[in-house]
Amino acid sequence: MIAKVASKKAPKQGMLENVMRQFDNAADIIELNTNIRKILEVTNNEIVVHFPVRMDNDEVEIFTGYRVQHNNALGPYKGGLRYHPTVDIDAAKALAMWMTWKTSLAGLPYGGAKGGIQLDPNKYSNSELERITRRFTYALGDNIGPELDIPAPDVNTNPQTMAWILDTYMSTKAPAERSTNMHVVTGKPIGAGGSKGRDRATGYGVFLTIKFWAESHNVDLKDKKFIVQGFGNVGYWAAYFLVSEGAILTAVQDAYGSIVNEEGINVDELLTYTQSNKGSILGYAKARTLDNKDFFSLDCDICIPAALGNQITPKNASKIKAYLIAEGANGPTDVDAEEILLKKGIDIIPDILCNSGGVIGSYFEWLQNRNGEIWTLDEVMVKLEKKMKESFTTVIETSKKRKVDMRTAAFIIAIERLEEAYVQRGIFP
Ligand code: GLU
Repeated sequence: MIAKVASKKAPKQGMLENVMRQFDNAADIIELNTNIRKILEVTNNEIVVHFPVRMDNDEVEIFTGYRVQHNNALGPYKGGLRYHPTVDIDAAKALAMWMTWKTSLAGLPYGGAKGGIQLDPNKYSNSELERITRRFTYALGDNIGPELDIPAPDVNTNPQTMAWILDTYMSTKAPAERSTNMHVVTGKPIGAGGSKGRDRATGYGVFLTIKFWAESHNVDLKDKKFIVQGFGNVGYWAAYFLVSEGAILTAVQDAYGSIVNEEGINVDELLTYTQSNKGSILGYAKARTLDNKDFFSLDCDICIPAALGNQITPKNASKIKAYLIAEGANGPTDVDAEEILLKKGIDIIPDILCNSGGVIGSYFEWLQNRNGEIWTLDEVMVKLEKKMKESFTTVIETSKKRKVDMRTAAFIIAIERLEEAYVQRGIFP
């Protein structure tokens, strides 16, 4: 066994510590080559930009944006951009690392990156967000590119954000390069080079992994109760597909609060309600309000954290009643909490598998842009299911072979693919 060096270097708390501990655990089990371990423990590039933007009231505000590129041994850097007050260099590093493991596990020709801007988007008008996004893109300059580093949506960013990035990037290129750079960003609106199915890809993938898990455990999803934390793109679509299989959505939590109705919450009615309620679920008439602290201890079969990192902690883990946790979010389960859950016999479909439908959908968009193709929704969904099934099956097989939990198995597969690449390529010079 190799000494655990990385966890000592990582900070005591937070997502970075979690991803490093997850990595260490798998690297120890496979006795990862020490030199390759050194490489994978660090991020290749960390780009921090400060840029001014004129606000609606004519004042100038300075913003800080990040793009961390963890590793590109398997292909161009890939990963989302999030707009949230918690975005900082450590969060971007952790999330970039998870992207490397995610794309490797999914068998995509990509590396891992992540970034964003530290801000609360609710405090800005749409035109301010447009100017912030465009100026951030400009500040990133040639640090992103269709064959170098390809951003995508994440928390609080969406197809519109991606369209602004595309337009800004294109506008700064020479005329001949403008129409050939569509794949500099994925998750675009369909009219601006996006792919059919990318909108639902993450949530559909979350649903698929739950379906595969249910099939392999002889569980019928009909009438199973599930709760969802986060009612954004991921939470909504995961709930939509689960309900279409007969499962019952009994509680939802978003940034504003929690609601519950044991008889079931209508997913589309709730979405329509939030659209007329500044994006918030609170006040939805056909459910009761619940104290946020009681959310994870609700009686249910499946729990889907689909919001932010570090939501399931040693504090609430022991109270969780679900027997399956499907991680729609990145890093929602703290490593110490995971130990408690596994001891209780709760299965966890790990983020790098569970939410990988998003980046797989991004890959399909990138391929279409690159090859001048337009696929049908059906083609996208069929290809997505095939890829998710392959990943799920390898994770289950590895977990049985190695006698480890699903997260450890997923990390082992992802790390071994990178190890192979480094062994074959060697280290320059
Ligand atoms: N932000 C998503 C994730 O965390 C998607 C990334 C992408 O499509 O590049 O996986």
